Amino acid sequence: MTKQEQKNILVTGGAGYVGSHCAKALAKAGYAPVVFDNFSTGHRDFVRWGPVIEGDVRDAVALKDAVAQTRPIAVMHFAALSLVGQSVEQPDLYKQVNCGGTRNLLDAMTTSEFSGNVPPLVFSSTAAIFGEPDVDLIDEAAGKKPGNPYGETKLACEEMIQASGVDHGLRSACLRYFNAAGADPDEEIGEHHNPETHLIPIILDAALGRRDGIRIFGNDYATADGTAVRDYIHVSDLARAHVAALDHLLKDGKSLALNLGTGTGASVREVIDAASRVTGSTIPTTDAARRAGDPPRLVADPSLAYKLLSWQAVRSDIETIVTDAWAWHRKRFTPEITS
Ligand code: UDP
Repeated sequence: MTKQEQKNILVTGGAGYVGSHCAKALAKAGYAPVVFDNFSTGHRDFVRWGPVIEGDVRDAVALKDAVAQTRPIAVMHFAALSLVGQSVEQPDLYKQVNCGGTRNLLDAMTTSEFSGNVPPLVFSSTAAIFGEPDVDLIDEAAGKKPGNPYGETKLACEEMIQASGVDHGLRSACLRYFNAAGADPDEEIGEHHNPETHLIPIILDAALGRRDGIRIFGNDYATADGTAVRDYIHVSDLARAHVAALDHLLKDGKSLALNLGTGTGASVREVIDAASRVTGSTIPTTDAARRAGDPPRLVADPSLAYKLLSWQAVRSDIETIVTDAWAWHRKRFTPEITS
């Protein structure tokens, strides 16, 4: 085994939004990310910090081969479907990709090849596992009652991972993101889904004239301005949390499950106002019905992540998030203006 191989981290879904930012952070921290991705939603040009193995997590053999070939010292698992609305329409697909994919990965990692030395796992989880807890700040002890198939599949994955801890000694960190947002401050990678459903890229598309405006889903919530409140967390802060969790596990730290957010919420209107200031554009809005399954308020209590990993968000005020997202968005979609 070469020195390089000794620091390999297998990153499933490493061509996606959060996965690619984590691959970059891993490389910066001296690890060697090896991406495993089927490019169903990820981007080929987001794989810049190491090799890629093209494959689907539903393919157990391909995953086993990837693990055998990479011999990772740890795994980060991002490959999943993550749209609430799509999960309601296609719950079986979500089970196949999210639960089936995680099952295949756990099987590949816990084979006899590793003989009692199972590499630790950092898992991309979500606030959606909590559903709509009736608390101001959601901590790790909050009840887990997902309100849609996406959240259900992610909770089932966390349970599978915990069971692998009992059965095979797997050590893991399940990181529940609140609303991942923003872009790489170096403008190399950012948020781009097709079709786009997320608030900030839609607002920025409107600012660029790539769409007419934004529909505000619900203006009658019991919040200060009537629009839904979310805890937006900069994707670079998330990436630092992943590296901190990995370092913890590689130093033989215990398994973790942590809520990652800022502890402060922003309403849809506050995000639109911030984007107007940052872009210097008026963002046309129309009021629309609430989106099915959207809770009024989801804000993390991130104090356990601080206590256990000394991690806290440092780039996640809404103005900075939108500024970084805007810089990348303009570069991506209007290169003729920004070059
Ligand atoms: N939202 C909105 N209009 C849009 C997209 C999103 O009003 O075109 C709202 C959505 O209802 C939610 C918030 O913005 O309250 C964040 O939505 P997003 O899809 O970005 O993330 P989610 O909270 O669903 O993970």
